[in-house]
Amino acid sequence: MSNPSRNVLLIDSTGRGHAIADLFQRTDPSVQVFYGPGNPSVADERICPVPDISLSDPGSAVRFCQARAIDFVFVSHIDALSTGYVDFLKTNGIPTIGPDRAAARLEASKAFTKSLLQHYNVKTARFAVFDRPEPAKCYIRGLDYDVVVKADGLCEGNGAYVCSDQASALQAVDTIMLTRAHRDAGNRIVVEERLFGVEISIFALFDGKEFLMFPAALDYKRSDDGNKGVNCDGMGSLSPHPLADKALYREIQTQLLEPLRAAILGEGLKYTGFLFIGAMLCDDGIKVIEINVRFGDSEAQAVLPKVQSNFVQLCEGVLLGTLSSMSLETDDKCYCNVVAAQGSTLRVDEDGRAIRYPGWPYGDFEVGFPISGLETLDRRNSRLFFANVRRDAEDRLVTAGGRVLHVTGIGDNYAQAIHHAYGNIEKIHFHGISYRSDIGMIYDSVDTTRQPRQISSLRGTGKFPVMRAHGPRD
Ligand code: AMP
Repeated sequence: MSNPSRNVLLIDSTGRGHAIADLFQRTDPSVQVFYGPGNPSVADERICPVPDISLSDPGSAVRFCQARAIDFVFVSHIDALSTGYVDFLKTNGIPTIGPDRAAARLEASKAFTKSLLQHYNVKTARFAVFDRPEPAKCYIRGLDYDVVVKADGLCEGNGAYVCSDQASALQAVDTIMLTRAHRDAGNRIVVEERLFGVEISIFALFDGKEFLMFPAALDYKRSDDGNKGVNCDGMGSLSPHPLADKALYREIQTQLLEPLRAAILGEGLKYTGFLFIGAMLCDDGIKVIEINVRFGDSEAQAVLPKVQSNFVQLCEGVLLGTLSSMSLETDDKCYCNVVAAQGSTLRVDEDGRAIRYPGWPYGDFEVGFPISGLETLDRRNSRLFFANVRRDAEDRLVTAGGRVLHVTGIGDNYAQAIHHAYGNIEKIHFHGISYRSDIGMIYDSVDTTRQPRQISSLRGTGKFPVMRAHGPRD
């Protein structure tokens, strides 16, 4: 079925945004994607950045939609979602995909989500919520298991303190509530049982009634090799998840997505668009760790290139509430995404003093370094996505943030995908470039000292079953 040409406005500005814009363009032969505020270096034949659109001003998007014949808007940035961007666009009569402000609390408040999960019997770690530090510490002292202490609000991926003993848990309470490391996001905390196992990132598109599952991914959230260092939202990912076979997808469908659907409908939340479930594969089954109300970043860059279905049509299914009659086609390749970040640099100031910048995500970092080697990537076996890249006064591509760009390797198996990711990222240069060298190894949080497992010994097939809104197709 060929689509009439559509004009889509995508609200995002991250590497995830680039991957979604690319998905629209790659799977629909005639769509025109406007990307606001977007990223000027992402401009492509049918991707047009709109820097005048602001993530904090939905009125700027409304004005753009009124001036252009925009068919629908897809909002995928949490800053916009959590402040009611979708509500504003819909009030102005613009067809929009994304959760409204109330539904975005699933990501914006961990306490809200944990209570919802508990109420609707979605398996998750035991927990308690506190508004003051002393009762939280008293609770922690009474526990005989390790905990994770989390700031309730949005913290750019670093508000969860995974603790190995009581002292570090008590310290985390102080860091969040007294030192106020995350400002108002730490007015309330969640103390939850630490889960052990292998993490999995689960994705689905939701039309307000039904979910259509996307391939799952394995995300590498820690900054350093060996899954060490700080939690930083993602240094790379692998898709499909190496442990995900048909049986696991069914388990996800029945144990997580169906009760979550009941929760969203039961609470009357107005939710459309992508849903992300961060979960742990534990010895006693799969448990939810977190929910995000948009696609994961860096998972988007490994998962979305697999998708072969026309994404404009899927979005129209979301808007019409007809996703249940649609299916998701994917290729059977493996994808490995590695993030190139702005690492440590040394600068000598005018007085001859050496200043060391720790680099992202450890602390301050420099920007504006020219990026070279992009033209040497082998585009037959890799994809390139920009997160924080801009053009300088001389029209050179330069670094513009912590996570700079993503290289995704493609292969017939995981080993090939990993090989192509690293073979290509090694061709890219900028001052202070830094990336993990072990994306693709499987670490088990039960024992981080154990040797990582090779993927060949795991149960997944690398193939993602054709999905319908009610589960895998036999
Ligand atoms: P969150 O801020 O909830 O997204 O958590 C960030 C990361 O912290 C997760 O991706 C996990 O790696 C880790 N984490 C969070 N909660 C738990 C938990 N209950 N048990 C073990 N690890 C966790």
